[in-house]
Amino acid sequence: MGRVALVTGGTRGIGAAVAKALKTAGYNVAANYGGNDEAAKAFNKETKIPVFKWDVGDYAASEQGIVNVENEVGPIEVLVNNAGISRDAMLQKMTHEQWEQVIRTDLDSVFNQTRPVINGMRERGFGRIINISSINGQKGQLGLTNYCAAKAGLIGFTRALALESARKGITVNAIAPGYVKTELLAGVSDEVMKSIVSQIPVGRLGEAEEVARCVVFLAADESSWITGSTLTINGGQFMD
Ligand code: NDP
Repeated sequence: MGRVALVTGGTRGIGAAVAKALKTAGYNVAANYGGNDEAAKAFNKETKIPVFKWDVGDYAASEQGIVNVENEVGPIEVLVNNAGISRDAMLQKMTHEQWEQVIRTDLDSVFNQTRPVINGMRERGFGRIINISSINGQKGQLGLTNYCAAKAGLIGFTRALALESARKGITVNAIAPGYVKTELLAGVSDEVMKSIVSQIPVGRLGEAEEVARCVVFLAADESSWITGSTLTINGGQFMD
């Protein structure tokens, strides 16, 4: 039996590609999602990967969701904190709700999922925690103070927990993708999209499967000497 992996936001976009790639690599995968039952059902039908619905921004719901995954699939050995949203506005127009929604879904969620699994990983002497950050957490982007704060915060979390976990067989890494073709970009106008692509040296958006390759690489038992790092995958748009 393969190692057990939980992918949050694992039913659509990058998360779905990650869940599928981990399954292909032999992992026993569970996929979480937040509200889109239809997409989750279609994903489950296509992949046979079990899906679990809870709000990653809610601590109690996350604790319970993880208990359910562990009862059904097994103790979580690989955690991919992928679920995320954006609510863009210039700060002078941003509402407290837009700020709060992004911080709780993109940053609180990482605590909410990691806290319930960390002791099990420490006891078993093995764990892989992979946090999906963003190019915008590295370089900043106008209209995204909430998102950039959350995604940069996640890199700090990654480094601190990597130090705490290094002697316990647990690695903690972040991946910072550039712009990837998913529904997260659905609200971006054609004009802005053209300007984004013009800033990518490789000359195109990324594919979710390309990010998934990075996750499979970091999740591997053989990647045990990589911890606290941020793997940048962005077509050359920002070099860190
Ligand atoms: P999508 O919008 O395509 O998918 C988001 C996934 O997260 C869905 O499965 C969604 O579930 C889930 N989700 C959202 N909110 C919650 C919640 N509160 N609780 C549980 N699950 C939730 O996003 P992407 O695939 O584009 O993005 C995935 C990650 O990658 C995000 O963290 C994003 O910030 C990051 N990223 C994306 C980039 C891009 O260009 N696309 C670039 C850099 C980083 P449901 O289907 O139920 O809504």
